[in-house]
Amino acid sequence: MNRDYYEILGVPKNATEAEIKKAYRKLALEHHPDRTHGDKASEEKFKEINEAYSVLGNPDKRSQYDMFGHNFERMGINQDDIFGAQGTSSIFEDLVGDVFSDFFGGRRNSKNRKIRGKDVEAVLELEFEEAVLGIDKEFTIKRTGVCDKCGGTGAKQGTRPTTCRSCSGAGQVYYRQGFLTVTKTCHVCNGSGYEIQDKCRDCNGTGRVLREENISIHVPPGVDNDSVLRIQGKGSAGHNGGQPGDLHVIIKVKEHPVFKRDDQNVIVDMFITYTQAVLGDTIKVPTLYGEEELNLPSGTDSGKEFVLKHKGVISPYDRRKGDQIVRVHIEVPKHVTERQRQLLKEFDEISLHENKNASKGIFDKVKDLFQ
Ligand SMILES: [Zn+2]
Ligand SMILES: [Zn+2]
Repeated sequence: MNRDYYEILGVPKNATEAEIKKAYRKLALEHHPDRTHGDKASEEKFKEINEAYSVLGNPDKRSQYDMFGHNFERMGINQDDIFGAQGTSSIFEDLVGDVFSDFFGGRRNSKNRKIRGKDVEAVLELEFEEAVLGIDKEFTIKRTGVCDKCGGTGAKQGTRPTTCRSCSGAGQVYYRQGFLTVTKTCHVCNGSGYEIQDKCRDCNGTGRVLREENISIHVPPGVDNDSVLRIQGKGSAGHNGGQPGDLHVIIKVKEHPVFKRDDQNVIVDMFITYTQAVLGDTIKVPTLYGEEELNLPSGTDSGKEFVLKHKGVISPYDRRKGDQIVRVHIEVPKHVTERQRQLLKEFDEISLHENKNASKGIFDKVKDLFQ
């Protein structure tokens, strides 16, 4: 059902940000409702283009999309975000707005336009086990919120913002250029239509303050290093009553002394003795879910890998569980006692005798070559 976003914009997977932007502008202009006069197919196409660009045009969302495809909303990105307060028109205006103001005489009224707040990023460091098994975490973030003192108006307590004298509250100014009427956002009030005479001291007239806030989040099991969890509405406050942005929590996972991670699989290196390798043995192996017994067959080579099914990490996307890979390595003793030395030599002599007929030594093979 869902068409590939790259395909929609007609760009290759490795397209640069500039290439994506260019492709979007071209297509959006072509299919813009103002030009296609209510053509249904074009309208659908226009929506599709905007949806694709709202993801590919944002580096964070793009990398999530690259990783998870259309399932990426499972990471917490939902469709509201695509057609939310920062909907098609505002993304569009940011990019092509001026061109259209010129073409269509400023059809859009930007007075008191609701503007969604900025997204905020925070880094959360987790222990290996916390990331693998999931955990509830509380931490502190800094984000811009609405000023409590003035309630976000920016005007000193007891006063109110007044109508902007430059634009008479329209938020935009008009002027003629040749036969066209051009509109621009009023630079005195930045489009709000209001002016502030006495600024609120707490926020210096901005209506917004930066503050620390405790956030508690549920980290689902299986998140990996550099995973991003999105928490809706916990970013900076919006302007003119716009929705707040989102909080992007970037997960950093600490290294573990025993467990290493390879996607959903866990790798553990185990050291065994020469005797265990030759004769075989049952060894105890640590897993994320407790100790497991592993049967080493006789004649196990160093570097051999054993798979413990479903002892890996649960995928936060499709709930599938990976395996644990046990790599065994033969540990060569660095110091031996005199008795050990004797026994090893004896072992060697017997081995030479026993194996003589079974396989020729390397020197015999070389000799054969030159005969
Ligand atoms: Zn204030
Ligand atoms: Zn103004």
